[in-house]
Amino acid sequence: MKILVLNCGSSSLKYKLFEMTGNDVLAHGQADRIGMPNALFQHDAQGQETFLNETPLSSHHEAVHSLLTHLVDSKQGILKDLNEIGGVGHRVVHGGEHFQTSVVVDPGTRNILENTKQLAPLHNPPNLMGIDVCTNLLPGVPQVAVFDTAFHQTMPAYAYTYAIPYRYYLEDHVRRYGFHGISHRYVAHRTAEILRQKLEDLKIITCHLGAGSSLCAVAGGKSQDTSMGFTPLSGLVMGTRSGDIDPALVSFLAEKENCSLGQVMEILNRQSGVFGISGISPDFRDLEKEAALGNKRALLALDAYAYSVASGIGSLIPAAGGLDVLVFTAGIGEHSPNMRRRICAFLSWLGIILDEEKNVNSTVEGIISRKEATVKVLVVPTDEEKMIARETRAILQKQ
Ligand code: ADP
Repeated sequence: MKILVLNCGSSSLKYKLFEMTGNDVLAHGQADRIGMPNALFQHDAQGQETFLNETPLSSHHEAVHSLLTHLVDSKQGILKDLNEIGGVGHRVVHGGEHFQTSVVVDPGTRNILENTKQLAPLHNPPNLMGIDVCTNLLPGVPQVAVFDTAFHQTMPAYAYTYAIPYRYYLEDHVRRYGFHGISHRYVAHRTAEILRQKLEDLKIITCHLGAGSSLCAVAGGKSQDTSMGFTPLSGLVMGTRSGDIDPALVSFLAEKENCSLGQVMEILNRQSGVFGISGISPDFRDLEKEAALGNKRALLALDAYAYSVASGIGSLIPAAGGLDVLVFTAGIGEHSPNMRRRICAFLSWLGIILDEEKNVNSTVEGIISRKEATVKVLVVPTDEEKMIARETRAILQKQ
């Protein structure tokens, strides 16, 4: 069975075509700057040279059309016919409280999805646009929505309820939702496979540390709590996002800058995090270089990030009911031994002891803690597309 996975952003489209029998990626690519004069389209198919094109793509419709054309190209196509695609899996950021698992998109679920737009006004509209474009261009091919929030729907009410008047939950669904669920779920499952243990028997904290960063406590195979909340702005310090702050700072900043709430949100979303602290860059590679040269603000930003992750881990231990395994994933989690070391240095009291050689040399997945450590530490590269493809197949096979 072949599954096409699509991730539509406001001006971008990423895709992967999987052959599910061997878990092979047959083709992958992306379109950037859709709707702008200098759109960039890149397509890679197994055994072929990369195709790169810089011509305007006026819409997501045009971008999906372009990718489908490449898939069945008479000379370089990887498919003979688009009918070979057995299903399309769409990443959808927000499923609200309605979607606790992935769903097949039909007119009924499409209607409910429409209502989730208000919960994620930046992300869900382009995700839904991707669904609509595929309904149009691939009629008859089943489509599945896979949500970033769904994995966290198992959180107990005491973990997801904000201590504000309860009517905001009842009337407006204001609660903690959590994000990166596709990644946390994939990484937790892979961890159990690597350790050859049942996922249900493990108490895990997964650390998805990328430009956006979040933690998840997984116990009994389920998400028990997570660091992000109603939006992906809360929780850990991130690349440009503040993470948790005193909420009173919102009105303080609005008054100080004499600006709107929207502008304060812009400050907290795009000018904060390690970028805000350092004044240098949201990219951890830049910060590590600067810190090594003695830049104090870069060092402070790295320390503040590490402390935020470490204290976030500490705060999730009650949710996990203890801790057997700590897992690092995503850009920083997979590629920065320095950051893993900084974070773990705050946690030695938990029985976390890194094997420095493994930490520095880990290029793929594996255990990076020492044998005598009571909490195992792993690096597990995330693969959200593979998770979406598996989910799509599983949901379609159930039908
Ligand atoms: P997202 O998918 O949220 O955009 P990623 O998971 O790709 O983010 O992670 C991006 C982040 O990972 C960037 O801040 C980048 O600096 C960081 N990163 C990538 N490689 C390294 C590295 N070798 N050392 C330190 N940080 C890295």
